Amino acid sequence: MGTNSEAQGGRLFFRSETFAGDARRRPPTGETVTEAAREIPIHAQCDVLVVGGGPAGVAAAVAAGRRGARTLLLERNNHLGGLSTGGLVVWIDRMTDWSGRKVIRGFAEEFLGRLPPGAIAGPPPAAWGSRDAATAAWWQLRTAAFHGVVTHSPTCDPEVMKLAAMEMVLESGAEILFHAWGAEPLMEEGAVRGAIFESKQGRRAIRAACVVDATGDGDLFARAGAAFDADIDENDIHHCMNTSWLFGGVNMPRYQRWRAEEPEAFGAFMQRGRERFRYFERAFASWRDDVALFLGPRLSGYSAVDVDDLTAVEIQSHRLMAQHLEHYRAEAPGFRNAWMMLSAPQIGIRHARRLRGAGSVLRSDWDGRVRADEIGVSPSLAPKFPNVSVPYGALVPERLDGLLAPGRHLSCDSNSHSFLREIPQCWLTGQAAGLAAAIAADRNLASRAVPIAELQAGLRKEGVHLSDAEPAGSEEFQTASSCISATEGR
Ligand SMILES: Cc1cc2nc3c(=O)[nH]c(=O)nc-3n(C[C@H](O)[C@H](O)[C@H](O)COP(=O)(O)OP(=O)(O)OC[C@H]3O[C@@H](n4cnc5c(N)ncnc54)[C@H](O)[C@@H]3O)c2cc1C
Repeated sequence: MGTNSEAQGGRLFFRSETFAGDARRRPPTGETVTEAAREIPIHAQCDVLVVGGGPAGVAAAVAAGRRGARTLLLERNNHLGGLSTGGLVVWIDRMTDWSGRKVIRGFAEEFLGRLPPGAIAGPPPAAWGSRDAATAAWWQLRTAAFHGVVTHSPTCDPEVMKLAAMEMVLESGAEILFHAWGAEPLMEEGAVRGAIFESKQGRRAIRAACVVDATGDGDLFARAGAAFDADIDENDIHHCMNTSWLFGGVNMPRYQRWRAEEPEAFGAFMQRGRERFRYFERAFASWRDDVALFLGPRLSGYSAVDVDDLTAVEIQSHRLMAQHLEHYRAEAPGFRNAWMMLSAPQIGIRHARRLRGAGSVLRSDWDGRVRADEIGVSPSLAPKFPNVSVPYGALVPERLDGLLAPGRHLSCDSNSHSFLREIPQCWLTGQAAGLAAAIAADRNLASRAVPIAELQAGLRKEGVHLSDAEPAGSEEFQTASSCISATEGR
């Protein structure tokens, strides 16, 4: 499988700046205990069970609820939004392509449209796609211009996003269950038919016709025995972990002016930070001028599904937060009165597992082809690549039935993961998975047998942008055997 550096002709697009390599793993004890079998209560029965209330899970629950499915959204935390809120990843990446056309629409457009002024910051639509050097330079410092092109990639208030997500789910008719950790899939004749969750009430079960695994880490599909990939490129950030944070009491315009006007002084400041603390991160703009966002330092060499590693990253990130405050307060213009506002309640995981799907998105697909089972269109990684058609098959396990897997653990190679894991793309795949799960439950179909034409018509009705061009290949994604051949050679 290619690496991101290969995708960029030897140049890494998103480099992992640090490699810890010193993760101390607890030596296995080599001993086990036997857990007693027990009867557990069925807490609820539904058509569609969505496990995980991040961007993908919220979009899935809304889509399934609106289609009339009895939908239940299970979330381990006390809020919705996943990394986009609890992870403080409030910088919603590009929804426009390099010409400035908005290609990620549907749920994304509706959700962002609900945020009131003051809760969302970014360039106005008229500026999207602008290549004017001064405009792009101004927005680049505010995370809304890349490669000299102004983009639709706003920063948003996480509390307002939590509320908007919750209200959209409830308005759709779906129900929410917070403080419920999806532990095991319920299996019947080899297919997923619900899940067991852990809670303060103990272990409980939910029966469902179709399950959407939106945990981001593939918790459900991995435990159901679906094949997945966990390969990483150690030099690439796509697998890095960190707990993000916010500093309040800052003057971001002052800091941004300093960065723009005194790049050498800024470079020396960053260098001194790296010398002092080894891992050092620059401040990003947030949705407010008095709040700074830190989405790193990005730590590599850890596993996102190892509880000791997760703990080690938390300890290191929290220490780094305090060290950064000290250095920024002492040296960075605009930070003299900064204070530690919030460390993210959810650890920042970019990559844990990626489903091996009936279909997939591979680096070789970045050629403008339109997939016959397209469920949405993603902006590409860089202006030299055309938009990327996202197939339904990337959410469907190679063999396992009764489960769909939208979000950052969808089926793709590590190159394509670098942009398909972004929040707008998770909304896109989540919306499609929720609608497909509702159709499957309603019509008593296997999730892999959902008619693509019906799915696409439903998505268009909800404002999703699909390609106008003719799809490559005429056969619809329907049967397991035709799908499996799509992934041969991976
Ligand atoms: C530090 C960092 C910076 C990033 N920067 C950007 C950026 O600038 N722009 C951008 O668009 N994207 C960015 N991303 C990527 C993006 O945030 C994520 O890939 C995206 O949020 C994934 O959405 P998701 O719904 O698949 O998963 P998540 O956001 O991880 O949501 C998963 C949800 O499932 C819940 N959950 C997990 N397991 C269980 C379980 N077993 N039972 C019940 N609930 C469970 C979690 O609590 C969470 O609510 C960044 C990611 C990180 C970590």
